[in-house]
Amino acid sequence: MTEKFIPLSELKRFSPALSVPEVLKTPDGQLKDALSRPLHDLRISVTDRCNFRCVYCMPKEVFDKDYQYLPHKSLLSFEEITRIASIFVAHGVRKIRLTGGEPLLRKHLERLIEMLAKLRTIDGKPLDLTLTTNGSLLARKAQSLKDAGLTRVTVSLDALDDAIFKRMNDVDFSVNEVLEGIAAAEAAGLGPVKVNMVVKAGLNDHEIIPMTRYFKGKPHILRFIEYMDVGASNGWKLDEVIPSSQVVQRIQDAGMPLVALDANYTGETAARWRHADGSGELGFISSVTQTFCHDCSRARLSTEGKLYTCLFASHGHDLRALLRDKEQHSDLAIANVISQIWQQRTDRYSELRSQNTPGREQKKIEMSYIGG
Ligand code: SAM
Ligand code: SF4
Ligand code: SF4
Repeated sequence: MTEKFIPLSELKRFSPALSVPEVLKTPDGQLKDALSRPLHDLRISVTDRCNFRCVYCMPKEVFDKDYQYLPHKSLLSFEEITRIASIFVAHGVRKIRLTGGEPLLRKHLERLIEMLAKLRTIDGKPLDLTLTTNGSLLARKAQSLKDAGLTRVTVSLDALDDAIFKRMNDVDFSVNEVLEGIAAAEAAGLGPVKVNMVVKAGLNDHEIIPMTRYFKGKPHILRFIEYMDVGASNGWKLDEVIPSSQVVQRIQDAGMPLVALDANYTGETAARWRHADGSGELGFISSVTQTFCHDCSRARLSTEGKLYTCLFASHGHDLRALLRDKEQHSDLAIANVISQIWQQRTDRYSELRSQNTPGREQKKIEMSYIGG
């Protein structure tokens, strides 16, 4: 199938105008979409920049020296992010994940974390406040992130073999520095650290067993992610996806029996397994072969303040325009715009993809812009 490639700059510009409903209703934390899915999880992209060029995410041919990143004034400020986040929390969000690009590249991120850490869920509890990082700056920042109020981190690591890892990050970054970041995060109390490995057939699938052996018996949770058809620049092909069922089989065949575990909560992205001998937990994120749209409760806020109701959405809703509007909309007004958007949500891209229906044809936004 040929992807329709439209420049990211065009996708970023396109956004239907939002209007505030006439009758305003106070959020009660019970917001549901058109398929009865609640809004529990908000992912916030804090930068579209990254110091890696992972071949499946920001390939060098597209993200080269001429690539136009967002100018600083387009980015939501920390105050704007916190304001939007507090409105989402009033709608029932309990978990916020900071992402990017590489979130640790955003200057003074700890200040934002301090601000978000003060928010309370509708039942008065602290938020689950997490961050996904490539780990490159984690060794030096883990303690300050923890001190600012971060709860946990997820670190991406696609191989243990330095040559393969360098081929994947495409900026000559070594495995050891990421491992040091993981150790620093665990020592700072940001554990259990989840380690995300995107598996791309022929590129790093022979690292599945070394990675499993390495993390077995350690406190971290290794999670295998099926390579996804996000964005339009990674040239995704179905035969480059290794289904999670095969990953489980390969691990068992290598003499490490696994036992399936129950989900921690409804809407959890990773299927949980553990080593049968009790030496640790593993996760499998099967976005291609075992879709989880039916209880997807995630919203995404892009770096410039657009709300995306699906990772594969072709357009976002421009909340920044409301925040910066000269009419100075109240939190209640913005909350009602968000309710309207969420109540109309019918996204289930992965399910449609697996049913091979036309949903597969739509134009998509890049992962580095919207966040993972
Ligand atoms: N830069 C940070 C990082 O790499 O962890 C955060 C942003 S990154 C977009 C978030 C997650 O998305 C990472 O774990 C990354 O491996 C994953 N990811 C990116 N492109 C992907 C793809 N095409 N398929 C599956 N996962 C992908
Ligand atoms: Fe950067 Fe993360 Fe994308 Fe890799 S996966 S290019 S580290 S944003
Ligand atoms: Fe959620 Fe969209 Fe992913 Fe389905 S495809 S799980 S709706 S983000």
